[in-house]
Order: sequence, then C-alpha cells, then structure tokens
Amino acid sequence: MHFYNTTEDDQNQGEEVLKDVTKSGKERPWRERKLENVSYSELLQILKFKKASNVGACGRVLEFKPTDEGYLKLFKTWFCKSKLCPVCNWRRSMKNSYQAQQVVEAVIKEKPKARWLYLTLTARNAVDGEDLNKGLSELTKAFNKLKMYAKVKKNLIGFMRSTEVTVNKETGAYNQHMHILLCVENMYFKDKKNYISHDEWTTLWQKALKVIYRPIVNIQVIKPNKKGDTDIQSAIKETSKYSVKSSDYLTDNKDRNLEIVGDLEFGLFRKRMISYGGLLKEKHKLLNLDDMEDGNLVQTSDEEKPSEAEQEANSIIAIWHYQKQNYYLK
Ligand SMILES: [Zn+2]
Repeated sequence: MHFYNTTEDDQNQGEEVLKDVTKSGKERPWRERKLENVSYSELLQILKFKKASNVGACGRVLEFKPTDEGYLKLFKTWFCKSKLCPVCNWRRSMKNSYQAQQVVEAVIKEKPKARWLYLTLTARNAVDGEDLNKGLSELTKAFNKLKMYAKVKKNLIGFMRSTEVTVNKETGAYNQHMHILLCVENMYFKDKKNYISHDEWTTLWQKALKVIYRPIVNIQVIKPNKKGDTDIQSAIKETSKYSVKSSDYLTDNKDRNLEIVGDLEFGLFRKRMISYGGLLKEKHKLLNLDDMEDGNLVQTSDEEKPSEAEQEANSIIAIWHYQKQNYYLK
C-alpha cells in the first residue's frame, strides 16, 4: 500500500519541475516512465483490475537525498511491482543488469578460463493470454530439460536466463523467447564431442520442446578477454532488459491495447521472468543480492544508495501532477 496522503500532497506542490540528472549528464526518465505508467493504469481501470489504482500510485511521490556534488539519490518511494509497469520495469532492468554484472565478475574471477555464449531459444507464437501462460510454462520446462542433456550438461558451468514476450504488430500474436547467457568450460570448444553446433542446439531444443517444427535458435560466442569486454556487457544488457516492451501495449490503438494488456496480465501471471542457474546462481546467493523481481527497486545499484551522512540531509520531494503531467518539487 502507498503511504502518502493524496489531498495533502496536491496542495503542497510547487512550481519547480523535477530534474534528476546522472553523473554522466543523462536525465533519468522519470516523467516518460510515469506517463506510460498512467496510461497503463488507465487501461487496467477500464479492464476492472483491482490493482489499477495501486499501479497509478506507483512512484507518485519521490523522496530524494541530495549528494554533496549536487546529484539526487532516490531515498524513498512506493513501487507497485506490477509485471507490466513501465516505472517498475525501468528500475528492474537497471537492477538486473547491475546484479548480473556482479555475478558475472565473480564467476570470471573463479573460472577465468570459462567461455561465454549467448543463446536465444524461441517457441511458436501464442494466440491469447491463456495460450501464452501455458506456453511460458512449457518454455521453462523445456529449458530445464535442455540443460540436463548430457552434451549440454557436461560443459555447463551456469547461466542467467530471461524470458521476453513481444507482440507481432500485424498478426497480434505473442512471440515468446528466452535469452540465455551461458557459461561453459573451455573444453566446449575442444572437439566435436564437446562443441554443440547451431544445428545441434536446434535439434536439442526441438527435442526438449517436444514439437514437430524446427524452432528458431540463435547461438553466439562471446569473444573472450576482449578489451572493455563489450560483448559480454551487451549480452548482460540484453538479458537484463524488460520482459515486455511498453511500446507493445501502449500503441495509438486503444482497443488493441486493452486486449493486449488483458492477455499479458493473464499470460505473465505468476511467471518468473529472470533466473540464474549453476555457478551464477551460487554467486548471486553468495553476493547476497536480493530478489530480481520482488526485491527493493529504490536502490538499484550501490552507487545510488545515500550514505549515512547523506541521509541526514533534508529530503527533496517530487510529486507527480496528473493534470500538468510532470513531477513538481514540494
Ligand atoms: Zn510500478
């Protein structure tokens, strides 16, 4: 539940617009994400979802602490944690990529010779919410099978996987796929007994999915020890991003949006969109990182957490103004 008093807050708003700029000079997209959140909560309202008003209250009042250098650090707010919420998903993907970064670093430290692969597994499109919900369960089940196949298992050190759903603009079908950052033993590249070709991956995935069609599979090798590690960074980013893009359900066709949000709410119900396995899971636990989906979305990285001294400073409070469609300082 949100703990701010609505009527009191509205009277307390000033004229100054919130500006939250990062050290690299980028403005944090509070307004953009909140505008999308408002549209999303309006769709939920029409669809008579009980959580609609809670979603609308997500990130409505933001309490920041200023740093000595003049930056803002988010200190307190209330997030709805709905799976489709654009505000929460923005926070989640920041948090996911920060956590993944730490996990991957810890694994590299322990297994410097390990190699990394980026695997994308797809399944046939789903037609509606029920179909999608079932399809996502099957996808997870099939992946759990795939990782146990002898040839996969023998070199597998660990993985991070995320499930993504995209909406086909022409057919309206839901495409479900999985992005997996795989960590394998160096042996994987040694010979044909260890190496799994693209064709073999496809055959194994087809077997795991128990389907008659050839599913689309993509496998990329992440180049090792490259300066700046750009490949592994972008693979981490890809695996950490939102499970559903807000542009897929906030189009200019409102009837379509209602249908898509209805389907996705049903389809993603009780689905875990990100998970770790093997050594990556162990490291995630050892690093004491909290839950990717249900954890704290206020502090998404270490850097953002206000120090004890900073917490002593007076708060800067920004409140969303529904009519003026922006955050104003109190
Ligand atoms: Zn939210």
